[in-house]
Amino acid sequence: MRRTKIIATLGPATDSSEVIARMLSAGVNIFRLNMTHAKHDWVREVVTVIRDSSRETGKAVAILLDLQGPSIRTGDLDQPLELNEGATVELVTGNPQEAGEGSIYVNYAGLVDDLSVGDPVMVDNGVIQLKVVGKKDGNKLVCEVVTPGRIGSRRHINLPGVYVRLPGLTNADKKCVQLAFEVEADFVALSFAREAAHIEELRDLLKSAGSTAQVVAKIEDQEAMRNLDEIIVASDAVMVARGDLGIEVHVEELPLVQRRIVQKSIKLGRRVIVATHMLESMIENPLPTRAEVSDVANAVYEQADAVMLSGETSVGNHPVKCIEILDRITARNEVGGAGFAKHADIKSHKQKTVKAAVALADSIPGCVIAVFTKRGVMADYVANLRPESASVYAFTADEQVIRHLCLSRGVTAFLSAFSGTPESIVSEALDDLKGRKLVDSGDSVVVLSDVLGEEFAQDSIQLKRIL
Ligand code: PEP
Repeated sequence: MRRTKIIATLGPATDSSEVIARMLSAGVNIFRLNMTHAKHDWVREVVTVIRDSSRETGKAVAILLDLQGPSIRTGDLDQPLELNEGATVELVTGNPQEAGEGSIYVNYAGLVDDLSVGDPVMVDNGVIQLKVVGKKDGNKLVCEVVTPGRIGSRRHINLPGVYVRLPGLTNADKKCVQLAFEVEADFVALSFAREAAHIEELRDLLKSAGSTAQVVAKIEDQEAMRNLDEIIVASDAVMVARGDLGIEVHVEELPLVQRRIVQKSIKLGRRVIVATHMLESMIENPLPTRAEVSDVANAVYEQADAVMLSGETSVGNHPVKCIEILDRITARNEVGGAGFAKHADIKSHKQKTVKAAVALADSIPGCVIAVFTKRGVMADYVANLRPESASVYAFTADEQVIRHLCLSRGVTAFLSAFSGTPESIVSEALDDLKGRKLVDSGDSVVVLSDVLGEEFAQDSIQLKRIL
């Protein structure tokens, strides 16, 4: 059974019930809806389709709303502008009307103050590179074109290394919080989270709106890297958002940055997603490049909880095939691939108990772990310790906890009514696993619980054998 979870972004190529059902069957664990492009009505419709499909196929799947965050963009252009190497171009802030022919409006008022002569300005995912050569009239940056290209309307701008004085969430993000409550989103991701306070603000807003979504911090720039520890601790999960990160840091640094985020997240007990360009060539082609296969395998060796597809499944030609390929690469490389990360910080008594349980289960061939968990916390502790051989099955009475655990490496979760005696709850759960052919007579099971009352009260471990 594959441990690494798969996140797929939905879009025009994949929003039909037929394709969603096929993607679910191929192994998607979480569907991502990208609020940079998605309209609220589309989200409402597609969430209904996802939930129906999940019910019909019997496959749990979570929904992640990905908020755009504070994005710096160029303004509207009547027609695309050709930027030739060595030419100068003016970036205008404040009043869009002041951006005359041959100049470009930018929606960030702090641009002129925050940048200095010599600083780079990356436009349209870094495809076009400008360099600041001067300032004019208090609201204009004069730039030289370093890497030429054709620029269209509303292109994204990255300012590598610059401390950007933008709020953590925009008004559009705040409207999405209400939507997250309405559609019962399981995760909400914040783009360009730069400090813990941004995550805390989102968490507070979600709580006030009545949403129980977990919060994912997208690490996208150098400021987030400077505040990495506090952001990780403030979040439920972290995303290595390599699209923007690969522009904001020197590209040769990206693998090291990825490894640092993954290892830090595991150490601090948070789940971690490796995202973007994993199977980029499959937007067009039916097979990945060899380099993409190795990139996915590397995320598996790093023991990330999940890998994520963006354009590959939202606008690509082969969305279902992408899931199938990702399923194969991840599953194969979990077996026999050297694990890099084995160093979660152990602080609480509960974590010590879980560590002992994982060690016990890993020492018995074929042993599985059954964890009874109310909010998913104990199951997450198990996942965080990255059991080497033991499969992990979580039982909970809360359907959303099952969906929250869709992000946790190696955990498969099932519903349990938690009614009856602790012994009967455990034995019913083990029967359930046997019925699903996940365990067999004679197999050993390490049972862990902090919710089943007195007999299990001290976070106890029990070793059982399937009858
Ligand atoms: C990224 O930059 O890698 C990312 C996932 O963010 P988005 O696709 O929303 O720009």
